[in-house]
Formats: sequence, C-alpha cells, structure tokens
Amino acid sequence: MSTDYDLIIVGGGIGGSGLAAIMAEAGASVLVLEESTEFRDRVRGEWIAPWGVVETKRLGLYDLLVRAGGHHLARHISYDETRTPAESEATALALDSILPEIPGPLCIGHPHHCQTLYDEASRRGAEMLRGVQVEEVVPGANPRVAYVHRGVRLEVTARLIVGADGRQSQVRKACGIALHQDPPHHMFAGLLVEGAEGWADDIQAIGTEKDFAFLTFPQGGGKVRVYGSYPLSQRNRFAGPDGARLFLNAFQVACSPENHHIVAAEPAGPLYSFFNNSAWADTPVAEGVVLIGDAAGYNDPIVGQGLSITYRDVRLVSDLLKSTGEWQPSLFAPYVEERTERMRRLRHAALVTARLEAEFGPDAQARRRAFHERAMTDPALTAHGIAVMAGPEVLPPEMFTEAHMDHVLGLDQHAG
Ligand SMILES: Cc1cc2nc3c(=O)[nH]c(=O)nc-3n(C[C@H](O)[C@H](O)[C@H](O)COP(=O)(O)OP(=O)(O)OC[C@H]3O[C@@H](n4cnc5c(N)ncnc54)[C@H](O)[C@@H]3O)c2cc1C
Repeated sequence: MSTDYDLIIVGGGIGGSGLAAIMAEAGASVLVLEESTEFRDRVRGEWIAPWGVVETKRLGLYDLLVRAGGHHLARHISYDETRTPAESEATALALDSILPEIPGPLCIGHPHHCQTLYDEASRRGAEMLRGVQVEEVVPGANPRVAYVHRGVRLEVTARLIVGADGRQSQVRKACGIALHQDPPHHMFAGLLVEGAEGWADDIQAIGTEKDFAFLTFPQGGGKVRVYGSYPLSQRNRFAGPDGARLFLNAFQVACSPENHHIVAAEPAGPLYSFFNNSAWADTPVAEGVVLIGDAAGYNDPIVGQGLSITYRDVRLVSDLLKSTGEWQPSLFAPYVEERTERMRRLRHAALVTARLEAEFGPDAQARRRAFHERAMTDPALTAHGIAVMAGPEVLPPEMFTEAHMDHVLGLDQHAG
C-alpha cells in the first residue's frame, strides 16, 4: 500500500532530528513534525558521555557537533565535605583515558544542539515542519497522523511513525504504551550561567556538602551548566523571583573553593527544578510505531545519560530500518531487548549515584566517607561510574544487582 512518507517522526529534538538526518541520507522520505517554533533552553542535557560520543561517531554526526561548537572536557573532580579540596583534586579522573580515541565527554548547548541536527536533517532532504500541533496519532497496519500547521489541518500516512516527542510523549500515549517510574529520589534544579570565565573550561566537578550536591559542566566562553540536588522535603527551596540567586548562593561550599566563580556568575536562562527518577516502557514498539529517546523511557538525569541513550536508539533503529524493506514490529526485537537491559543497568547506576551523592545528613555523610576510603582499594565499587562513562554494556551483569548496590553502600559490611 502506498503511503505519503516512509517515516513520520513526531518531535524534532535530538532523537527526532538525528534519526531524520540518518534516514533521509539513506534515501527514505521523512516528515518531521516539531511542536516548538524555536528551540529554547528547557534545562535539558548538554553533556554527552564518552560512550555517547562513540555513538555520534558511529552515526557520522560527531564532526557536525564539533563544528557547531561542541567541546570536550578533560578532567572530573569529585569534591566532598568529608575530604579537603586537595584530597579531592588528587583523585581527579582523566576523562580522555576512559575510551580509546575519545577525548572525553562532549558539551554542547541543548537548543543549539537540536537546531544543528534539525538543520542537518533538512539539508539531507527531510521535510521539517515546526509550530505543528499534532492532533491524532493512529497506530496500526496503516499508521497515520493528523496535525495542524499554519491553520491548516492535514492527515498523512507513513510506513512507520516514530515517537521522538520527549518525556510526555503523545505518541506513546496514543499507542497505550505504559510508562513505569521509580518514585522520585531527590529534587534536581538546573541553570545555565554566564560570566564564569574563572571556572576552567575543561573541568567538570561534583560535590556534596550539608543538604546540597552540585554538578558543574562548562560549556565554553564563561558559560557553565550547573545543577543542584537537594532533598524532596525542600521542593520549594528555589521557588520565587529570588530562586536563581538562592540557587547560585548554594554553590558556596567549603569543599570546592573554585565554586566562588559560579556564585559570582549570572543566570543565562531559566531555572527549572525536577523530581528526579528513572522511567521505562516495557516495549517501546506498537504496530506501525517505534519510540526513541525520552519518549521510550528516561534515566535519572543525575548521571547525564539521556543524550547518549538517545543517540544509541537512533543508531539501533536506523540500522534496523536500513537492513530490510519489511518494517514489521518484529524488526525491532533486538532494539527492545538491548534497550531494556541498557535502561535497567543505567537505572541501577543512577540509583547508586543518587544514594551516594544526593542523600544528606550524618548517615549519608558517613556512607560517602566510607565509600571514598574503600574505593581506593576496591575499584569494583566505582562500577556505576564506569557504566555511565564507558557504557553500561562494558561491565558484567553482577555489577547491576541489589547485592552489588548493598556492597557499594556498605550495607553488607556488618552482615553475618
Ligand atoms: C534536568 C535535566 C538534565 C539533563 N542533563 C543531561 C545531561 O547532562 N546529559 C545527557 O545526556 N542527558 C541529560 N538529560 C536528558 C536529555 O536532555 C534527554 O534525554 C534528551 O534531550 C532526549 O532527547 P529526545 O529527543 O528524546 O527528547 P527532547 O530533547 O525532549 O526533544 C523532544 C522534542 O519533541 C518536541 N515535542 C514534544 N511533544 C511534541 C508533540 N506532541 N508534537 C511535536 N513535537 C513535540 C519537543 O518540542 C522537542 O523538540 C537531562 C534531562 C534533564 C531533565
């Protein structure tokens, strides 16, 4: 049966525009329907893990991102209130040593990242529409989408519809695909700041002190994307007109003296806060539909995996689509299988990280101190960090079990 397009992709962000670029280049007719009229700062990912950088290379998109201003980070420092700054800096991690030929994580502003991929998809021949209101998505043997663009309602058909429309995915809901979620673990606020030239351009840092855990990811040119974790009981801590200033003041911690550059910086975008957790769909596929990126389920942002996850989704799905002309739901079985295990492992790694770094008070502090000491002689304790940097598949499955989590948190220390 003939259709208007091979692919209709709902959502033209990282996943949607990335997939459109790959499939348009492969000769598919692609329509992308993007809701926004311009990409704005929504406080989304700007740090691509080294394993995600590998994915951009495998997709042939890496050079594009570097030309668009993406820059690599060279060192990671974990500060903590249980150590002096010098002790923390002595255990800095060289980020170019994690994966061969990958100079470290890649940072690029999210709206600019989306626009870069959007323009590339257009350049490669995908039909890109924005300011679109999708009214109906109908899965099935002859899937179709109804949308309004510039006041005109249209109904179009495709061989396959791709849901790349983010966390609240309309496509996922239209397919009746359930999203399972962990309970929120902590609050997480993010803000882009400018005027932080004093913060080294190639150093990322995290640190926990009292009831605040900070994360800093320099974007170049004095801009730094900063995040903070804090207890769920303080959900309104940074609400109101002074919220951004209160948030930046929270970066004034003794364990990381360089943070004064962040405290002195100015907001360069909105401050948004989130209930952090992980979410997943059992099967992100329905007849005539496949979901990618956040639409298919997302990882707790505390470990910054969403972009890498999305790029791998794009690679796996595009490889399958290019491998045959028969686009049946069963074609996606390898994608579903790999993604299920990938998300399970990353959910585990995020939860270990959250329990170590985003829990507060004397017990949590003692746990972190013990963790840092034990990790000097037991490298297996840092498996969750390796998984988020080098990819969840590089480690054996026993690193992603309850027993391993108890071991990392020291809960098995007094057993027996
Ligand atoms: C606070 C926070 C910090 C994060 N930090 C990191 C990080 O450091 N590193 C990292 O890798 N990941 C991070 N992430 C996750 C990362 O941003 C996402 O996983 C990634 O952006 C997912 O890409 P996507 O294309 O699936 O979705 P999105 O980036 O959300 O894009 C979805 C697109 O679909 C469009 N859309 C939505 N609904 C519709 C509709 N009905 N019709 C048409 N278009 C629609 C939207 O306008 C948008 O352009 C973070 C997330 C959060 C919340």
